[in-house]
Amino acid sequence: MTDFNSPSTAQQERTAEPRRSVREHVVIVGGGFAGLSAARALKDAEVDVTLIDKNLYNTFQPLLYQVATATLNPGDISYFLRSARAKQKNLRVVRGEVTGVDAEGHRIELADGRRMRYHRLVLAVGVTANFFGTPGAEEHAFPLYTRSQAIKLRDTLFGRLETAAQSSSTGDVRVVVIGAGPTGVETAGALAEQRDKDFPVIYPDIDRSRMHVTLVDMAPNVLMPFSEGSRDYTASALRERGVDLRLGLGVKEVGPDSVTLEDGTELPSMITVWAAGVTSYRRVGTWGIPQGRGGRIETDEYLRVKGVEDIFAVGDASVGDDALPQLAQPALQGGKYVGKLIAAESRAKHAHQPLPAHEPFAYNDKGILATIGRNSAVAEVEGIPNLTGFPAMAIWTGVHLVTLLSNRNRLASMVNLGSRYLTWRGGHNVIVGDTPPTALPPSEIKAQQAKAAEAKAGAGSR
Ligand SMILES: Cc1cc2nc3c(=O)[nH]c(=O)nc-3n(C[C@H](O)[C@H](O)[C@H](O)COP(=O)(O)OP(=O)(O)OC[C@H]3O[C@@H](n4cnc5c(N)ncnc54)[C@H](O)[C@@H]3O)c2cc1C
Repeated sequence: MTDFNSPSTAQQERTAEPRRSVREHVVIVGGGFAGLSAARALKDAEVDVTLIDKNLYNTFQPLLYQVATATLNPGDISYFLRSARAKQKNLRVVRGEVTGVDAEGHRIELADGRRMRYHRLVLAVGVTANFFGTPGAEEHAFPLYTRSQAIKLRDTLFGRLETAAQSSSTGDVRVVVIGAGPTGVETAGALAEQRDKDFPVIYPDIDRSRMHVTLVDMAPNVLMPFSEGSRDYTASALRERGVDLRLGLGVKEVGPDSVTLEDGTELPSMITVWAAGVTSYRRVGTWGIPQGRGGRIETDEYLRVKGVEDIFAVGDASVGDDALPQLAQPALQGGKYVGKLIAAESRAKHAHQPLPAHEPFAYNDKGILATIGRNSAVAEVEGIPNLTGFPAMAIWTGVHLVTLLSNRNRLASMVNLGSRYLTWRGGHNVIVGDTPPTALPPSEIKAQQAKAAEAKAGAGSR
């Protein structure tokens, strides 16, 4: 926990402060959907805005699974945060990890010791993977929440496939995906399609029947927030693709090469993908601000942190009396609302007028989407009947391309998704990075050497 009473050097304060200004200083922590949306809403306000993120970039999480399954490049879904300055002159972008909040002193502290003063603070730090205390999960499973995790998963998968392709005895290639929400469904569907369409061409040495994709969830069906019709459609679309569904059973333990279910069933697993849920960052608990359900920061109807002056919380990290889904739209809408509220109040202050009254934040639910694979998706969109199949996939694709940040990312993703769709039967140009070296077991290397020597001896004696 940060001790804000400890002496901070002038250097620390200086490096973190914006240039001296008489305007209000709004600090936004987190450059995700919520933080960026708040910053944009302050574009024309008479305030100085500082956006702080621990990364240099924003990650478009809804398409992370496409990076993990080798259809999109990591750059296609990343947005360089400093480029937001091009369109917003009152914005300063700082890379740093916020570790402490001093609500009384109106200060925050970064991991490197820098401190920064604020008049208004917007906390938009998002959440992180939740392992629910499952033994072995944190050590052995691959979470899919950040860009680097998606790259690690993709490279590990291709490394293991390479090893399997060179070996006749390393057994089957088994992937177990834990969590049958949209991320788990999309990942399992994409892997099953790759096994059937790409791998027979690019890995002819791996028999199709040697690769297995299993999707596990403790809930009785997939995609629980969706309607029954969408869930049933999704479950049968996954089964048609050969995904083994294990529903209604929780995970007891994750091992280096296995997943044990509650009933004791042990599923062999070469790669375990963790897509089971999210939780607040532990450090939020040290910030001395109220936390509600799931450790999320508690806010009132104006998205102000309950009982704390001049601090707002938006997006996944926050929760009001009615918990909103942890999705892009609540984050985008909440960020915009808070940005506008601060802008209106600062305008009134500048004009020496009383602060304006605000309407409480009202979330406009536009619907939910998930895709299973080529021409297969579910869409529950406000104002139209629920859709499945190609029309749902077209909506899913359109919404994701439009929501991506920057035209370059839209274009790059359109090209990569489009080429995957159009070259379905002929092109198998998956996107790979640096895979770990192929590691055949010593017994396998010896067996292969012996076989080669035998073949050579046989050839010599003929
Ligand atoms: C794999 C996956 C797929 C998803 N698919 C969908 C989907 O299809 N549709 C949908 O609507 N939603 C989807 N979501 C959910 C959606 O992405 C989130 O609801 C949304 O990103 C929340 O936005 P946010 O701004 O609150 O948080 P985030 O986007 O997580 O942004 C938080 C930011 O804060 C930064 N940060 C965190 N802690 C600190 C700190 N201490 N100091 C500085 N910076 C910090 C992080 O680096 C990050 O940039 C998906 C999420 C995941 C993980």
